[in-house]
Amino acid sequence: MQGNGWHLNRTQFDASLAEAAAERGAILQRGMRVVGWDRLADGKWSLVLLDGDGSQFQLKTSFVVDATGRRSVFATKQGANPVRMDNLLGIAAVFEFEEGAAKDCYTLVEATELGWWYGAPLPNDRAIVTLMSDRQEWRQHQFSRWENWMANLAKTRYVRELVAGATQSSELLIQPAFSQYLDQMAGDGWLAVGDAACTFDPLSSAGIYKALRSGILAAEAIAGYFHSDAQALAKYESQTLRQFELYLEDRRQYYSLEKRWPDSEFWQRRRFNISLSPSKLLCFERSHHCASVLRRLKMYLPLRDLQMLCELCVGGKQASDVVAQYRARTEGRVSAYRAIEALQYLLEQQIIR
Ligand SMILES: Cc1cc2nc3c(=O)[nH]c(=O)nc-3n(C[C@H](O)[C@H](O)[C@H](O)COP(=O)(O)OP(=O)(O)OC[C@H]3O[C@@H](n4cnc5c(N)ncnc54)[C@H](O)[C@@H]3O)c2cc1C
Repeated sequence: MQGNGWHLNRTQFDASLAEAAAERGAILQRGMRVVGWDRLADGKWSLVLLDGDGSQFQLKTSFVVDATGRRSVFATKQGANPVRMDNLLGIAAVFEFEEGAAKDCYTLVEATELGWWYGAPLPNDRAIVTLMSDRQEWRQHQFSRWENWMANLAKTRYVRELVAGATQSSELLIQPAFSQYLDQMAGDGWLAVGDAACTFDPLSSAGIYKALRSGILAAEAIAGYFHSDAQALAKYESQTLRQFELYLEDRRQYYSLEKRWPDSEFWQRRRFNISLSPSKLLCFERSHHCASVLRRLKMYLPLRDLQMLCELCVGGKQASDVVAQYRARTEGRVSAYRAIEALQYLLEQQIIR
């Protein structure tokens, strides 16, 4: 146990943040969805908002903050692409207790062979239980089927106790939970914050803290942008990337603590073993086929960096030299570890040999 955690009633917390913003002069438009945007000749943005009744509104603004969560609705339309680190999914169900019968406990995390379970009490005598597993296991073991999900819950020791005697009160809900970041987090007149910029593994329990911190950094960057600081948005982006790199390091350390299932592919993927020898000779031959396969790759590094790694392998080069040259060109923006992970991925995909 390291430090204290907080149990947050998310609905109340979000409402209190919105109120605090309104008290400081923000105009709240509740229940609206941003469905369109245009850059006007004067440099401002015109946003199209849709309310719950389907009525449309227009809003003119000098700056857009994309806080739409992991779908990064606005940023991806400006050309930003998510770069994924894994394929983690959460498969959750809510359980209901008879009045006053809910267990008084904190969040529970329990590792099993095919992933890990997360259980937490909810307000109003309810609890949520989630199986975190990769897309591959989800497909192979058909975790969307209630009986398969329950059979795995029955194999837990602690989490099943949390909901003993409760009745299921929701369908199984599938939530993407992969760690990812945008290859572009800001541009002229916009930036992405919170999960829209990067997402953390729920094991970290740090998504909300990270989102709040990201909001503070974003506010400083926007103030700098309007005070003619040409570097303000670039600085925000590099701070966010740095934070993501530190998070990846923590994630590697936490997952590698679990050693009970050496044959489980879920845990093998998280042991982050490096199999590439530094002296291995890597080769890349340019071809239309490789270029089109490369464009479809979404893991570990942005497409431009995967392309750079391939180009560094033209004519044949040792893996250690490729990593050193890549890091020199990108000014050490990402760890050597991630460059190696990306090279292993390019080898697996048979782009480099
Ligand atoms: C299974 C799971 C468990 C987690 N457990 C924890 C935990 O224990 N602790 C923790 O700190 N974090 C946890 N997280 C992560 C945490 O939920 C997120 O990091 C956090 O919610 C990010 O906040 P956000 O405001 O950036 O995005 P979100 O909370 O995703 O909010 C985005 C908002 O944008 C709105 N939106 C989307 N599209 C549009 C649009 N077009 N127009 C207008 N609005 C739009 C959405 O409705 C939503 O209200 C967990 C995540 C998962 C998947």
